[in-house]
Amino acid sequence: SEIGKRLLPRPRRLLLLVNPFSGRGQAMQWCQTHILPMIREANISYNLIQTERQNHARELIKEISLPQWDGIIIVSGDGLLHEVINGLMERPDWELAIKTPTPVGILPCGSGNALAGSINHHAGYDMCLREPLLLNCCFQLCRGGVKPMDLVSVTTSPAPSQNGRPGLPRRMFSFLSVAWGFVSDVDIESERYRGLGSARFTLGTLVRLASLRSYKGRLSYLPPSIVATCPDALPTRDWVTIEGDFVLVLAIYQSHLGADLHAAPQARFDDGLIHLTFVRAGISRATLLRLFLAMERGAHLSLSSPYVSHIPARAFRLQPLSPRGTLTVDGELVPYGPLQAQVERARKWSGEA
Ligand code: ADP
Ligand code: MG
Repeated sequence: SEIGKRLLPRPRRLLLLVNPFSGRGQAMQWCQTHILPMIREANISYNLIQTERQNHARELIKEISLPQWDGIIIVSGDGLLHEVINGLMERPDWELAIKTPTPVGILPCGSGNALAGSINHHAGYDMCLREPLLLNCCFQLCRGGVKPMDLVSVTTSPAPSQNGRPGLPRRMFSFLSVAWGFVSDVDIESERYRGLGSARFTLGTLVRLASLRSYKGRLSYLPPSIVATCPDALPTRDWVTIEGDFVLVLAIYQSHLGADLHAAPQARFDDGLIHLTFVRAGISRATLLRLFLAMERGAHLSLSSPYVSHIPARAFRLQPLSPRGTLTVDGELVPYGPLQAQVERARKWSGEA
C-alpha cells in the first residue's frame, strides 16, 4: 500500500562523482577497494559517474533533479568540490537547493584534501593521510551526519579580455581558502609534482623557500565586531587597511589547508568567520619554515613574529600591486587582480539567524 511504502525506510541514494585523475590517479581503484564495499555494507544505494573533464561535474550538477538524491559525494580532491558547490549555486533554484539542502560530502582521493582533513579532525580522529583518511571519511559518510557550513562569496577580476571586449567580474563561492603569494605559488607550481601526491606541497614549499619572493599590495578587512545594520550590505566605514610588501596573504575558513596542515585550529564549519593570516616581507626563511612546520600541528598561532599576523574577519579586499603573481580560490587559479570576499552564513539559509 501507499502508506506501507512511505513507512518503510528506503535506502539512502548517493550520487558519487569520481575524478579519475585526482591525486595520483587512484580514485577509481579506491572506489573498488575501499569505498563501494563500505557503502554497500551500509545498505546505501548509489550511482557512480566518472568526470570526463574539468567543469563536467559543475555542468552536470546544474541539470540533475536534486530530490532524487540524499547526497552528492565528491570522490576527488577539493577542486572537484569547488566545482560542485558552484554548480549548485548557479542553478535557477539555488536558494531552494541550499535551504532544503542536498547534503554534499567528500571522500578524499586528491592531492589537496583540506575539507576531508577538517572533517576528520572535527570527528575526533587523529590527523592522517591517504587510505586511513579515506576510511575515516567513508565511515562518517555511512553514519550519515550532516552539518551546516558557511560559504564565502568571492568576486575576482574579469578574465583577460577576448576579442577586445573586457570580461565581467566573476562571482564564485568558496568553501576553503583564498591565497596570494607564497601559498598560491606553491599550489600552482607544485602541479608538476602531482605524481608525489600530497608530498607535492612539501617539495613545492622547499623550492619556494629557496627563492623567497615578496609582493606589493593592499589588504583591507572588516573585523567581526562590526555588525552590519542591514544584513546584506557591508558597512563602508570600519575597514582596516594595510599596505606594503607581503610574502603571503591567506584567508581560510576550514581548520585545515591540507589533510596534514592544521592552518586555522580555531575555525569551525559555521563560525561566520574568515581566518586571515598574512606574512610581511622581511621575515627570515628560517622563521617562515618554522611557521609552516608548526602549522602541521596547529601550533603556529603561538609562534610570535612581528612579520606574522592572524586576524578574524567577516570580509576582506585584496589589491595586488605587483604586476605579476598568482591568486587561488580553493586551490584553483583565478585571474590576477583585485579580489573581494565576504562570509555567507549557513545560518541565514537555515533560518536560525
Ligand atoms: P587534486 O586534489 O588531486 O588536485 P581535484 O579534485 O582538486 O584533485 O581536481 C583537480 C582538477 O581536476 C580540478 O580542477 C577538476 O575540475 C579537474 N577535473 C575533474 N575531472 C577531470 C577529468 N576527468 N580530467 C581532468 N581534470 C579533471
Ligand atoms: Mg586540487
